[in-house]
Amino acid sequence: MLEGWESPDVTVYLVAILGLLVVWQYYQIQIMAGRIMAVDIFDRSGIRMYVYVTPHDDHVCAVCSASHGRVFLPSQVAKKKFLPFTGKCQRPTPCIGVLVGLYGAWLEARGVLEHLRNNAKKGGIQLSSEEVRALVNGQWERCIDTDRLGVHLIEAFSYEKINQEVSIEGYRYVVNEGKEVRHLMFLVPAYLRLTQLLLRAGEEAEALENIERFESRFPSTKRGPHFPSDEQRELMRTKKAQLLKGLPLQMSA
Ligand SMILES: [Zn+2]
Repeated sequence: MLEGWESPDVTVYLVAILGLLVVWQYYQIQIMAGRIMAVDIFDRSGIRMYVYVTPHDDHVCAVCSASHGRVFLPSQVAKKKFLPFTGKCQRPTPCIGVLVGLYGAWLEARGVLEHLRNNAKKGGIQLSSEEVRALVNGQWERCIDTDRLGVHLIEAFSYEKINQEVSIEGYRYVVNEGKEVRHLMFLVPAYLRLTQLLLRAGEEAEALENIERFESRFPSTKRGPHFPSDEQRELMRTKKAQLLKGLPLQMSA
């Protein structure tokens, strides 16, 4: 009765599985022997550099805003004690900041990447605010789509004071299109900043709608990676209550 188990089909599968195990084992041995660095695997995830960005807003502390525009290689980010900022955030509720991973195939990004690789030993490079804007003003739309959401977030952060409409558009794009796991970390900052800018622009109806979408996307009964902090939830709840009562809104972030 059990003869069927020995059919050629099953043998093919077994050989394939064995083959995979051998390949994996070989890979492990190579890693352990130091011939392949574990970070090389990390490097191949479609991200070639990380840019740390904070919103261009007066409420961001001096330490965090000084870290805006720092660029790192994935191998640096993968280090155990890696932090994108130079000191400790000075606000009781930490400022918003996001480490945006990019493949960076467009001209301006390739220039930044080359500069970064040439300075890899220094532990990263720093772009000025103008250079960050020049990066996202490049021809990125001609390249593969993987960077679109990250570019929109950097753009939105960078233009809050310069062109509020550009910022609002950028944040709207992120909250509407951010559906993949790698976009999760962009969502809470984008919802918070979008609400703030909409209130500033007097778009109270859309601000309220945005808070409600935030609440249904991150139910308070659930916890998860890149979910809002208790303070961030409280901030949105307060703004919602004020909007519903038609009270003047406190403008701090
Ligand atoms: Zn800070």
